[in-house]
Amino acid sequence: MRYVIVGNSAAGLAAVESLRAAAPGAEITLVAAEEGPAYSRVLTSCYLAGQVPEERLFLVDEGFYRSRNVETLFGRAAVGLAAGENLLLLSDGTQLAFDRLLVATGASPQRLTVPGADLPRVFTLRTRADAEAIRQAARGAQRAVVVGGGMVALKAAEALCALGLAVTMVVSSPRLLSQLLDPATADLVLHRLEQPGLTVLLRENVAEIQGDGRAAQVVTDRGRELPCDLVVVGKGVRPNVEWLGGSGVAVNRGALVDERLRTSRPGVYAAGDAAETWDAAWEERRVNALWSNAVEQGRVAGLNLASPSGASLAYPGSLAENSLHWGDLSLIAVGCVHPPADDPRYRVYTRQDGDRFYRRLVFREGRLVGAALLGDVRGAGVLRSLIRSAAGGWEERAADLLSPSLSYGRLYRHLAAALRPA
Ligand SMILES: Cc1cc2nc3c(=O)[nH]c(=O)nc-3n(C[C@H](O)[C@H](O)[C@H](O)COP(=O)(O)OP(=O)(O)OC[C@H]3O[C@@H](n4cnc5c(N)ncnc54)[C@H](O)[C@@H]3O)c2cc1C
Repeated sequence: MRYVIVGNSAAGLAAVESLRAAAPGAEITLVAAEEGPAYSRVLTSCYLAGQVPEERLFLVDEGFYRSRNVETLFGRAAVGLAAGENLLLLSDGTQLAFDRLLVATGASPQRLTVPGADLPRVFTLRTRADAEAIRQAARGAQRAVVVGGGMVALKAAEALCALGLAVTMVVSSPRLLSQLLDPATADLVLHRLEQPGLTVLLRENVAEIQGDGRAAQVVTDRGRELPCDLVVVGKGVRPNVEWLGGSGVAVNRGALVDERLRTSRPGVYAAGDAAETWDAAWEERRVNALWSNAVEQGRVAGLNLASPSGASLAYPGSLAENSLHWGDLSLIAVGCVHPPADDPRYRVYTRQDGDRFYRRLVFREGRLVGAALLGDVRGAGVLRSLIRSAAGGWEERAADLLSPSLSYGRLYRHLAAALRPA
């Protein structure tokens, strides 16, 4: 069998490992647009902040691919799949024949479309090269504007604050982390982030970026002028699936996959940020663009690629699992934290102690489907396990689950039954 994996990051690397373990003699080719061994995108903001050296970003070295007997084609992009023939087309004109292929091309940052969006010193943060470019620009700089209020925007803002820059965040939604959090939790996060050097402007959009030869000022739709030395845009990501147009792979936001991570084109699988998978908490297909989901999907896809039927293992579904640690703020949010207000199937329980302790649990028809913990995040693992287990019967124990002393030990008897494999 000839296997081709497109993408050399969380999903692609996990697939290489599981595929090679399951198919020791298989021919495996790994294609990636970026050069060099795989590295952690999660750490790019820490690298930007100067908290980790460049060499610690790398997950593997060149020897990794040799030792797994994987042929690497780095520095060239996949541009299409031939119709009717199992051929992957690359940007340099190469055509690669395959029997089974994994799409693990991840996602790219959304860009602004306002005037000045393409000026030098307007950055996004996704790659090692992005982090390096922002780092260079931040040398000697004093003021930065970060556009967006999601996780990557917050991590970029934190890194720039750590470098001593005064940072203004321009956030179009009425709260931070609007895709993730309910208004109450988001308000507490905002309150806890208030600090010298950080300004957060909510309900405000960038209208224009001005500058002579490089970004020097952001103008918002309220007419506010924000002089700056650099701009970082963190407005979410879009799966890298344009190259699949006309290939027979059905795409919504990401490449649509079934529970075996197979796309609609026979022999073609997808995993990671490029894939739209079943979400175990929301019970619908979603792109949960997170490292942990990408690794697990890559592992499962690799095993399915290797199996004769192509479908040996079911993927249990992704979960939105986000954490933020900034100064003394800790936040963990898992699953469906902000359900639709008008859906009577959901019930929400909270416990709060000032702005230092806040917990929120979301039940749908008696089953725990979401949790947010702010301040003391102990017990997050228990709640995650319960969300994953999909067991009912926990709503009457909501008060126990909201307790700061929640632990596996405390609820052992009940948990053992709930978490026992069926
Ligand atoms: C600053 C930052 C902080 C983050 N923090 C967290 C965190 O704390 N926790 C968490 O869970 N997640 C975090 N994430 C998200 C996480 O990094 C992604 O979910 C993860 O990288 C997805 O892995 P992936 O393998 O699907 O794709 P990617 O990491 O995007 O990799 C895609 C791969 O495909 C290649 N590629 C792309 N297009 C093509 C093409 N056309 N042809 C060939 N190759 C191509 C790329 O070169 C790359 O090798 C963070 C991301 C960023 C940017």
